[in-house]
Amino acid sequence: ALQKPHLNLAVIGHVDHGKSTLVGHLLVVTGYVDEKGFKELEEQAKKMGKEDFVYAWVTDRLKEERERGVTIEAMHVGFETPKYFITIIDLPGHRDFVKNMIVGASQADAALLVVSARPGEFETGIGPQGQTREHLFLAATLGIRQIIVAVNKMDVVNYDQKRYEQIKAEVSKFMKLLGYDPSKVPFIPVSALKGDNIKEKSSNMPWYNGPTLLEALDALQPPPRPVDKPFRLPIQDVYTITGAGTVVVGRVETGVLKVGDRVVVMPPAKVGDVRSIETHHMKLEQAQPGDNIGINVRGIEKEDVKRGDVMGHLANPPTVAEEIVARIAVLWHPTAIGPGYTPVLHIHTATVPAQIVELIAKLDPRTGQTVEQKPQFIKQGDVAVVRLKPLKDVVVEKYSDFPGLGRFALRDMGRTIAAGQIIEIKPKKVEIK
Ligand code: GDP
Repeated sequence: ALQKPHLNLAVIGHVDHGKSTLVGHLLVVTGYVDEKGFKELEEQAKKMGKEDFVYAWVTDRLKEERERGVTIEAMHVGFETPKYFITIIDLPGHRDFVKNMIVGASQADAALLVVSARPGEFETGIGPQGQTREHLFLAATLGIRQIIVAVNKMDVVNYDQKRYEQIKAEVSKFMKLLGYDPSKVPFIPVSALKGDNIKEKSSNMPWYNGPTLLEALDALQPPPRPVDKPFRLPIQDVYTITGAGTVVVGRVETGVLKVGDRVVVMPPAKVGDVRSIETHHMKLEQAQPGDNIGINVRGIEKEDVKRGDVMGHLANPPTVAEEIVARIAVLWHPTAIGPGYTPVLHIHTATVPAQIVELIAKLDPRTGQTVEQKPQFIKQGDVAVVRLKPLKDVVVEKYSDFPGLGRFALRDMGRTIAAGQIIEIKPKKVEIK
């Protein structure tokens, strides 16, 4: 069967600007949810006074399917355009959204920014405390270069072109500051509620002659797929399936995995052989970067490995870290961070406590130049090079070699404290038997 390339899409924007509604509409027009099912859910949601019904529905379905057994697509909400299979990696509003945007498993290839045109709502979102601003900043920090802007709730402003132009100009100005070229960014006036310019061109906005939302999604650039690098797959889940054995689920970050390959899972250093590979109900002879797959392995038991471990080829095993040197940007902290601080390191699918053992240098966030050697402390807004010691065994890689395994979030007090990139690793010797 012919396989469409996968594309991971982050849906970002201020609360209540219509992200869930727009995603719901996309799922309906692309056939992921049928019209009748959607109406029913909408009714249920209204009765319960819940606006985020689409997300809730998806979460429930995911849970259901997980209880029944493994299906790869149960892990992801997705839809197809003529060119792509698009996976929605997360929805803001989710508690760990900021973290999820930083760590590897959900690395976005592109972002869809939803901006409400409703008077007051747009202004709040783009204001100093607004999430339109915060999420765009985060997208830029994480290196998401492709962005589509949906100017939503156009029905509320009588499909007014002037309002659209005003919003486009203001968002463009901010995007320019972040290093984007707004002339290359599609700004699509839509109504997530009524469906204008989502699949079909809206007769309510004859003044607009750009692409519809689906056309803009289809015109995104395919993400680079590093097939020539060593194979790495951070494990999302492990199941035992009657008659099949152990199935490891995850997304291929780099390299190519083939049926018959000899693999190792680190840190536990368990060796096995690939019996079969499956994606979206299809058997694959080989898997590539970006593929969300289930791997049936011989020689590894469910109890041997867990979420957060990383699979590689036995000939080139993933690196377990003794210590890490990283560049971090402090996104939020109520006071100051000094040596000894021990937040939780979230990297690819792993979570381990890690201690900041040394503040090496403070950097100018704009130029990357060192402004202070060995600072006493760092605080919110600072960028610094630090030495980190994971307090449990964990696989990490250098950001320059394996971006998805080299970027991380530090969390504490239920919030994301910092985003970081690994520059150097002092590896830990782990014997593979
Ligand atoms: P989210 O927080 O960004 O996911 O926003 P929701 O999708 O939950 O939408 C917030 C509110 O705005 C809900 O009451 C929606 O019904 C409403 N809404 C979303 N899109 C539109 C739209 O295009 N037009 C109108 N009139 N209301 C909308």
